Amino acid sequence: MKPAPFHYERPTTVAEAVAALAGGDGEREVKLLAGGQSLVPLLALRLARPATLVDLNRVEELRGIEVSGDHVRIGALTRHEVLHTDATVRSRLPLLATAAGHIGHRAIRTRGTIGGSLAHADPAAELPTGCLALGAELEIAGPAGRRTIPVGTLFDGPLSTTLPADELIVAVRVPVDMGRRPFGFAELTRRAGDFALVVASVTIAVDADGGCRAATVAVGGVGGSARLIGPAARALIGTRLADGAVDAAVAEVDRAIRPFDDLHASAEYRRAMAALMVRRAIGAARGAR
Ligand SMILES: Cc1cc2nc3c(=O)[nH]c(=O)nc-3n(C[C@H](O)[C@H](O)[C@H](O)COP(=O)(O)OP(=O)(O)OC[C@H]3O[C@@H](n4cnc5c(N)ncnc54)[C@H](O)[C@@H]3O)c2cc1C
Repeated sequence: MKPAPFHYERPTTVAEAVAALAGGDGEREVKLLAGGQSLVPLLALRLARPATLVDLNRVEELRGIEVSGDHVRIGALTRHEVLHTDATVRSRLPLLATAAGHIGHRAIRTRGTIGGSLAHADPAAELPTGCLALGAELEIAGPAGRRTIPVGTLFDGPLSTTLPADELIVAVRVPVDMGRRPFGFAELTRRAGDFALVVASVTIAVDADGGCRAATVAVGGVGGSARLIGPAARALIGTRLADGAVDAAVAEVDRAIRPFDDLHASAEYRRAMAALMVRRAIGAARGAR
């Protein structure tokens, strides 16, 4: 099938993109196009039939990766392959570089963008758990100006976000301190390049005496949205990350998740694999101290 007819706009500034979005209403949907790796298949299948497509690819302000004060700022249009290979991301945010390298195949990674991945909100995507574990914030632009939100407030269920239809993600900001933490990333896929069945990202901060003073544990693929599991992180904090503490954290993940049955795996299997992926991610973080 081919997409239904649509009007096409190609802004060159964020202000123009916001103005183009403002043209939509309940009857005439306006959709942003970034890498097109999720949206174009939906258009081709006519599961999405926007009246207008606003192509972000010429908006220069959405590009670039820079260290600015206490955070790394990543433009929303940054491609997955750039995240995976960029020297700043690899040295400052190795968790994100690692997570991006697990997305699909290179052809997908050279087009797909971090803003598109977060806005698409697939519960099993890699970048949402990475961004959650790193305490990322999103710069948002809309008709009322700019605002910043924690990435955790974006996800609202499978392929659903809290972002109003007249706003767009401009950039992702990650605290430099979070990027320095030892981390672990683990995912289960049926074949290399497939979407994950379950994905886990973990960070820890360890004192000189080996005590864990801070931690984050994020999981995806085991509920409607990728999410942080606070009780799992708290089970690690204040411990020396011995096996008993890891067991307690894994038990908290088990309590918190609501996995589902689908074509690819049963809920029971996803639950067992979530425990394993979190255990592996904590183990990797512990080993990276
Ligand atoms: C074969 C295949 C395999 C894949 N495998 C994986 C995988 O393993 N893991 C994974 O995570 N993903 C995978 N993907 C999806 C890929 O990562 C996409 O790049 C990503 O989901 C969406 O990014 P995009 O830039 O292509 O967005 P688009 O497809 O252009 O847009 C997706 C959605 O986000 C919205 N959007 C885009 N940019 C913004 C913005 N700046 N602000 C607000 N809304 C915005 C669009 O309006 C649309 O609703 C795969 C895709 C394919 C085709």
